[in-house]
Amino acid sequence: MSRFQVKKVAVLGAGVMGAQIAAHLVNLKVPVVLFDLPAKEGPKNGIVIKAVEGLKKLKPAPLGVPEDAALIQQANYEEHMDVLKECDLIIEAIAERMDWKTDLYHKIAPFIGEGAIVASNTSGLSITKLSEALPESIKPRFCGIHFFNPPRYMTLVELINTPTTEPKVLDDLEAFVTSGLGKGVIRAHDTPNFIANRVGIAGMLATIKEAENFGLTYDVVDDLTGKKLGRASSGTFRTADVVGLDTMAHVIKTLQDNLGPVGSGKVEDPFSDIYGTPAVLTKLLESKSLGQKTGAGFYKKVGRDILRLDPESMEYVAGGAKANEVVGRMLKKPAGERLKLLREAEGAEPRFLWAILRDQFHYAAVHLASIAETARDIDFAMRWGFGAKQGPFELWQEAGWLQVANWIKEDIDAGRALSKAPLPDWVFKGSVVAAGGVHTAEGSWSASANKFIARRELPVYERQFFPENVLGSNAPAFQTAGTTLHEDDAIRLWTLDGEQGDVVIASIKTKMHAISPDVVEGLAMGVDLAEKGYKGLVIWSNDEMFSAGADLQAMLPAFMMAGVSAVEGAEAEMQNVMLKLRYASVPVVSAVRGLALGGGCEMAAYSAKRVAAMESYIGLVEVGVGLVPGAGGLTYIARRAAENAAASTNKDILPFLTEGFTAAAMAKVGTSAIESRKIGYLLDSDVIVPNKDELLYVALNEARALFNSGYRAPHKRPFPVAGRSGLATIKGQLVNMRDGGFISAHDFHIASLIANVVCGGDVDAGSLVTEEYLMTLERKAFCSLLEHPKTQERIMGMMSTGKPVRN
Ligand code: NAD
Repeated sequence: MSRFQVKKVAVLGAGVMGAQIAAHLVNLKVPVVLFDLPAKEGPKNGIVIKAVEGLKKLKPAPLGVPEDAALIQQANYEEHMDVLKECDLIIEAIAERMDWKTDLYHKIAPFIGEGAIVASNTSGLSITKLSEALPESIKPRFCGIHFFNPPRYMTLVELINTPTTEPKVLDDLEAFVTSGLGKGVIRAHDTPNFIANRVGIAGMLATIKEAENFGLTYDVVDDLTGKKLGRASSGTFRTADVVGLDTMAHVIKTLQDNLGPVGSGKVEDPFSDIYGTPAVLTKLLESKSLGQKTGAGFYKKVGRDILRLDPESMEYVAGGAKANEVVGRMLKKPAGERLKLLREAEGAEPRFLWAILRDQFHYAAVHLASIAETARDIDFAMRWGFGAKQGPFELWQEAGWLQVANWIKEDIDAGRALSKAPLPDWVFKGSVVAAGGVHTAEGSWSASANKFIARRELPVYERQFFPENVLGSNAPAFQTAGTTLHEDDAIRLWTLDGEQGDVVIASIKTKMHAISPDVVEGLAMGVDLAEKGYKGLVIWSNDEMFSAGADLQAMLPAFMMAGVSAVEGAEAEMQNVMLKLRYASVPVVSAVRGLALGGGCEMAAYSAKRVAAMESYIGLVEVGVGLVPGAGGLTYIARRAAENAAASTNKDILPFLTEGFTAAAMAKVGTSAIESRKIGYLLDSDVIVPNKDELLYVALNEARALFNSGYRAPHKRPFPVAGRSGLATIKGQLVNMRDGGFISAHDFHIASLIANVVCGGDVDAGSLVTEEYLMTLERKAFCSLLEHPKTQERIMGMMSTGKPVRN
């Protein structure tokens, strides 16, 4: 089997994108060397050194843990060109200038290894023109690789070929970017700004125009075009500020330079009128107000206030205005009704919303044939590159294809649209109309090929059992796929069909996957079923989070009626099920993604193994509501400390306990799978999975491999604890923190209870204890706090406002 292997990547350019791409490679264990120009003064690597330092402070964090910045190899073009020869992939991410890029290509060409792929991260320059600077032998291995900012968090990567790119090169790269870097790949044509920025920036320009037409202020527009519209919460103008107005101007300039009306000598684009730089943007650029990075743009933060720009006076005035509530209600209606209401309503706000949606539909339909292979690529581009919940074609199709098409046509005919260009014929007749839209089970509409085209079948996609999909594609839903073994409101126990059906999957169904008594019962049933006839149990679902923890809301009625004894029973059941997961005779594997908090963290910790998506945020957060972890979390911390001490020459347990104690006492949550491992909630032997859509595949494989290797549950073995002397040491530190005013009296009380459990209570140092003994201490601490008025205040506060109460 020949396989494209990426042993090392070179990133050229340590700017905003290059440095962050290097960071993301390091996160996913890909060795990387980061190049920039030699510094004129000081050490030659000066520019790269500064960029790597910057990565540690940047927000949102590009690195899983800041200290991994040290793993980025630093280089410059004067001293280290030979290092390029070791690299299988070279990503160029230098400033957006054709001449600078091609100069650099001439310089690096002699050092490019045989078979290495070279790719440019340009936002919009022609990939084909760039390729012309390369020797013939390298052209087949050159393409565009367009990441979005911030590259760790944005799913989209556009891959762009030239006429000379070898198809296998793109397939290889797509496999690496998808599986190795966890991204969603779309293939784009070599047209200005490719797909996402073409449609997205045209959408922003249209929004700016329509906001002017309807006389709406930036804050109201952002309120309307953010979450309420199913788009990124920063809306339109704040997104522009975050991206940087200079960057945005760059992308706009690419549109202006390359696209124009008939006879302009440029590529013909009937929307070219809207590509003019908005007057307000020109003024902002002149005054060097570039958005967030310079402290002012469409908005300006003054003290705690966010002021908005008044484009008339170019002064900053009070901001924060919200959209009319009625519009908010309209936006909650089903798609067809929603668009009709917006279109026919009286006020400026709803009509503005219809106008920008219409403009986007119009733009996407007119350009589909030239910029993308299928409508699916445009929808994925807007989801993955611009944070939209749904792409334009999906919304249009959901709202009723032909009806919406007729509304758009009416507006074009009446001169209300931004371009007079008619909608293409395929919108009104033939297969699309017959299918009720562009997405079907067969595939998505390709306006250039005049047919529906299915998704690319590359081996890498066999690892995704339930890939993200567009509306209308009729892809199997994980909620109903496979064979159900048991299902109720709390959980579904099921298997995939066929070869993969040898492992039971437990999918929790409660809101935020809260662990209610019914979930506990379901998990126990899952273990029983798996032990009887399967190779293992995988806890997984295709939702955004693993579990937000124990269901306090479900516990409250029992507490109100029967007091703390009722809760103690429920708590004991939860602890029992954790032990059942741990001591099951078949391996239990938790497939973690997103939040795994409190009981969710405990469920993972008590599994035989964890596979976690890179974006997993794991922690014991009970302190936030005035409680202690009560379903085995503290017992886990004590046991891990004993195991780590046993593996070291230093048999004193306390040093091994400190990290776990602090994490629980401060409700620390890992900000990535990597940090969650550093805190101790994942082990070195656990697997971090770059792509969330591969999580189930990896988890099933792990469970099966453990079983096939002769899995047996761990021994039930008593272990030593730090005892009363350890407790005294920790408490001494807590007293200082309380007396120094760093923690409240109630924080001190809770932390002391945590210390008591993890040290094993009032016993000699080194005493052997069982998990059951520690769990009893844990339960008692939990229940005593539940009766404490200050804890009750925290719980009530969290439930009513969602924010922690500090008392
Ligand atoms: P940047 O200005 O932050 O960094 C550019 C880097 O290029 C700098 O480190 C600079 O030292 C180096 N450089 C400048 N001139 C050079 C030359 N002649 N030879 C070699 N190196 C040189 O830019 P950026 O925002 O990181 O953008 C880099 C590339 O990525 C551009 O092609 C841009 O279009 C693209 N891109 C940017 C974004 C974004 O949001 N910023 C998003 C996607 C793609």
